[in-house]
Amino acid sequence: MTANNALTWADLPARQQPIWPDADALHAAQQTLSTYPPLVFAGECDVLLERLGEAARGEAFVLMGGDCAETFASATADNIRDRVKTILQMAAVLTYGASMPVVKIGRMAGQYAKPRSKNTEVRGGVELPAYRGDMVNDFAFDEPSRIPDPQRLLRAYHASSATLNLVRAFTQGGFADLRHVHDWNRGFISNKANKRYEKIANDIDRAMRFMKACRVDFEALRSVDVWASHEALLLDYEKPLTRIDSRTGRPYGTSGHFLWCGERTREREGAHLDYISRISNPIGVKLGPTATGADALELIERLDPDAVPGRLTFITRMGQGKIREALPPILQAVKDSGRLVTWVCDPMHGNTFESENGYKTRRFEDIVEEVRGFFEAHAQVGTHPGGIHVELTGNDVTECLGGVMHLEDADLGRRYETLCDPRLNHQQSLELAFVVAEMLAE
Ligand code: PEP
Ligand code: MN
Repeated sequence: MTANNALTWADLPARQQPIWPDADALHAAQQTLSTYPPLVFAGECDVLLERLGEAARGEAFVLMGGDCAETFASATADNIRDRVKTILQMAAVLTYGASMPVVKIGRMAGQYAKPRSKNTEVRGGVELPAYRGDMVNDFAFDEPSRIPDPQRLLRAYHASSATLNLVRAFTQGGFADLRHVHDWNRGFISNKANKRYEKIANDIDRAMRFMKACRVDFEALRSVDVWASHEALLLDYEKPLTRIDSRTGRPYGTSGHFLWCGERTREREGAHLDYISRISNPIGVKLGPTATGADALELIERLDPDAVPGRLTFITRMGQGKIREALPPILQAVKDSGRLVTWVCDPMHGNTFESENGYKTRRFEDIVEEVRGFFEAHAQVGTHPGGIHVELTGNDVTECLGGVMHLEDADLGRRYETLCDPRLNHQQSLELAFVVAEMLAE
């Protein structure tokens, strides 16, 4: 990887960027970032791109999950371990359900910037700039905390680096051993409430015994790949971390393996689509319920001009009530064009509402229903449902309603910890994996 001073960027309008109070301080932070080592390597991104190509062809299934907004304070060893553990447990169940490799991607090690629906937040008659993620300002509701501070770009880099270091250690050092992962899943099933999923767990047991009888080398299954992804929102962070790959001369975003453009920043003339069009990583674009087949085709032409399967993932987030109507025409238009993209369902962002007691929440049952609609839409059109993208944590938080624990409005206050969108807790995440595994096996 060489430095990025060979890169020039067009000066395009960028939505959702902070107004940094001190241009010199911003410039100094960017200068420093541009001297830091890449967090991920071009060759790794290329491997992930191939894996996503398999998902586009229906030969693999993608599981992308993690916090809505990571925070510096929650980048602890325990939290990172528990999130990785949750992803590994879900992946084991999905692998069985899909009878396909699962491409495991953490929404981790860089998910520190958030788009907001309003520029300011009002509480008790006081109006302050909105919280835009730990990479920009602090969540505390006072004026100094909410002033964007470019030093936070550097802190985000270091927190991402420490997170990735742990993710790599956990996934290469024996923690990901399939035998442990399956034992953890047995723990989930031992809870009476989860009895309904016993059959799949027993089937996996039998499959493991079969593998053992065939003398499958379980030692070789002790390490797995978990890739890092986040929304490429804050271009003042992404651009200094964009580097030219010395092997190929092509630019890569080195802040994460997979970078996506959000629903609020994917406008045609904007800087975000321009940015992701220029990097060689596998990339994603969120598509909400108003997206059309023509929008999808235009994005494909622009972002995947060489028609490389795995290059472009559409992450659809329509809402459970809209997906069955909104998604099939888009799938059909893409299918008719003969182009191949990876289709991933985000069943979270179209299903958010405010509970009566004032918490931003989602219902587990709505999330399941959107995934079901996603599978139905693909079955109807004859395209491949390539994966799911979920906001989750390994902790026992109470942010989403429902699931076998039957969380209700009154439970939300007990452990509501997210600074942005509500996440599935550990149990709800596993339950979702079992339900989706059933859908995949159908
Ligand atoms: C998100 O993924 O947290 C997000 C803001 O999503 P979207 O761009 O789909 O609204
Ligand atoms: Mn979110």
